[in-house]
Amino acid sequence: MTDPDRITIETFSLGPYQTNCYIIRSSTPEGGPEKCWVADVGFDPGRMLDRLDELGTTPEAFVLTHAHLDHIAGLFDARRRFPAVPIWIHEAEKDWLTDDRRNLSAFSPTPVTAPPADRLLREGDELHLAGQAWRVLHTPGHSPGGISLYCPTAGVCLCGDAVFNGSIGRTDFPGSDFDTLAASIRSKLYALPDDTVLYPGHGPTTTVGAEKNSNPFVRADA
Ligand SMILES: [Zn+2]
Ligand SMILES: [Zn+2]
Repeated sequence: MTDPDRITIETFSLGPYQTNCYIIRSSTPEGGPEKCWVADVGFDPGRMLDRLDELGTTPEAFVLTHAHLDHIAGLFDARRRFPAVPIWIHEAEKDWLTDDRRNLSAFSPTPVTAPPADRLLREGDELHLAGQAWRVLHTPGHSPGGISLYCPTAGVCLCGDAVFNGSIGRTDFPGSDFDTLAASIRSKLYALPDDTVLYPGHGPTTTVGAEKNSNPFVRADA
């Protein structure tokens, strides 16, 4: 059963890479207090952190779709504001947070590190936000530990830099691989119901059906 009403997703496009940071709030069916996660914390997260203050809520986790610099650069700032909030990431990128060569920032104007991970995620893990189930989909290719977070009851999926509205993630980075990414998109994301709303790491939302029909880089049927 689709239950989109229990979920609110707010988008903050942060920093020079305009990386989407999402505040995901979920209410309990009984009308209990909302719970929230923050997905990806890019450069200059102040606006997003101010919004959390305004909401009067402490996130249950900072959950990361992957550990490229632009998705993790604000974690130290976020931790200063919310010291007890754990950081979750796929096990394949557990060392990237603290290693500016692996998260690629050593090659950028702004070397970036972040606090170490508190919980490691794997394909098939089921996470719960206010009792609502989210499934971890391992969607490597843009990076080895890329994950998507899928909530079947809300019909939404956060897909990081795997697929964008009309595009896909870059595969020219160290650790990237086009064939792996195409396989992830076809077998994990295009396998979701067509009306699933995709929340990517950059740019506007899209749907599974729209990308299957018109994404020029990864076709549904190849
Ligand atoms: Zn990336
Ligand atoms: Zn990115």
